[in-house]
Amino acid sequence: MNCPFCGYFDSKVIDSRDVNDGVRRRRQCLRCELRFTTYERIQPVSLFVIKKDGRREEFRREKLLTGIRKACEKRPLPSDAVDKLVDEIEGELYQTGKAEIPGSAIGDMVMAKLKKLDHIAYIRFASVYRDFADITELKQEVDSLAGHSTAPPADQLPLIPPEALPVMVKAKRRVRR
Ligand SMILES: [Zn+2]
Repeated sequence: MNCPFCGYFDSKVIDSRDVNDGVRRRRQCLRCELRFTTYERIQPVSLFVIKKDGRREEFRREKLLTGIRKACEKRPLPSDAVDKLVDEIEGELYQTGKAEIPGSAIGDMVMAKLKKLDHIAYIRFASVYRDFADITELKQEVDSLAGHSTAPPADQLPLIPPEALPVMVKAKRRVRR
């Protein structure tokens, strides 16, 4: 990573420690000598998604992001909510240590998280992803959400902003190398 202060390309590592999903390095710029921190994630060589028809496709964060963003379109959510959600899912996927994960398992993870975040986004995602057999089934799902007392109503902002909830993982600066 280039120095965030002067842009110089080279730095030396002055401290290095393991954090939950990677390594945190304290660096010092070789030109301006200011210090900065980088997080480098440890990732398996690759992660494959097993599709319904049995084919494997390399996991792409971008694809997941697009699908969730679409579901959350125009919802009153913090601007970084979708990125955080995708970060969480990606982290959990890599933490399983598996090289292949069924697409349905990823879909279930997304649904569980959206359900806590925003009911409309959840329903939108579920209706695309889960292929509800008919409208009755979808209505049952909506009704079950309506009866869910701890979650915020779908049509208004929650009293506690989602970023204040402990379920949200704090954002990390990441450096891909
Ligand atoms: Zn510098």
